[in-house]
Amino acid sequence: MRFYKAESAFFIFIALVLSAGIMLFFAYGTMRTNAQLLASDGVGEFARLLFTIGILLATAIIFGLFFIYPLIRTQAREEGKLRAMTESLSARSESLEHAALTDSLTGTQNRRFFDDALREYLLEFGRIDKPVGLMVLDLDQFKLVNDTHGHDAGDEVLRQVAHCLKDMTRYHDVVARLGGEEFAIVAPNMNQESLLKLAERIRKAIATMTVNVGNVRLRITTSIGLAVWDRKEAADEFYRRADKMLYQAKRLGRNQVCA
Ligand code: GH3
Ligand code: MG
Ligand code: MG
Repeated sequence: MRFYKAESAFFIFIALVLSAGIMLFFAYGTMRTNAQLLASDGVGEFARLLFTIGILLATAIIFGLFFIYPLIRTQAREEGKLRAMTESLSARSESLEHAALTDSLTGTQNRRFFDDALREYLLEFGRIDKPVGLMVLDLDQFKLVNDTHGHDAGDEVLRQVAHCLKDMTRYHDVVARLGGEEFAIVAPNMNQESLLKLAERIRKAIATMTVNVGNVRLRITTSIGLAVWDRKEAADEFYRRADKMLYQAKRLGRNQVCA
């Protein structure tokens, strides 16, 4: 077993104080056995013991003051530096992790987060008897927005749509931008009927929303595909089924929900 400097110093300190204590005990014994203290030889022995105790205690104080205290101080300072370093490192890794899972343009989750969350929800909800809903959204004729009003206007539309999706979903729903102008929402504990209602509300909210870019007021619509987990399919199959519904919505003329 290896002792650190401060630990060894502490043990020496304790040994010194203990020795002083034992000496004190002997001094007390000597005093008791030499009841007629003043006249006997006991005075010399008693004084010697007291002197030794004094030396031991003084050594302990000097040792503690000039050796133990600086050691403790240095260690505390080093520990403080280390803690600050660890804190800043963990804050950095947290923000890196956050950046790795967030879409920087819209602030929603990104594809990577979506894939993991969907898999995890299916795993969890496979154990209990609750449905999982999935919504895949794609903005209609978005290329036209970019081509007509510029890429920055397109970006602003994406931000506003993301904001609207966040607003209309619950805390535990996952809103993610899968790429380009495609979004997805994982809605745990939602059956076909409530998912359809939510999708309709979202479709209407986006269709009635106006995005102001400079002095231009933009309107946009979205097509939505829905699926409720059949409790057997894997996450990618589940997603593909919702995606198929999205393309059906596009085929049927856009700005609609297909389930
Ligand atoms: P559809 O109704 O069939 O979905 O037509 P669409 O025009 O929305 O679809 P298309 O796939 O032809 O065009 C998608 C456009 O989205 C093309 C691309 O320039 C644009 N886009 C992709 N990512 C971004 C982005 O980050 N910012 C902006 N402003 N535009 C983007
Ligand atoms: Mg589109
Ligand atoms: Mg698209």
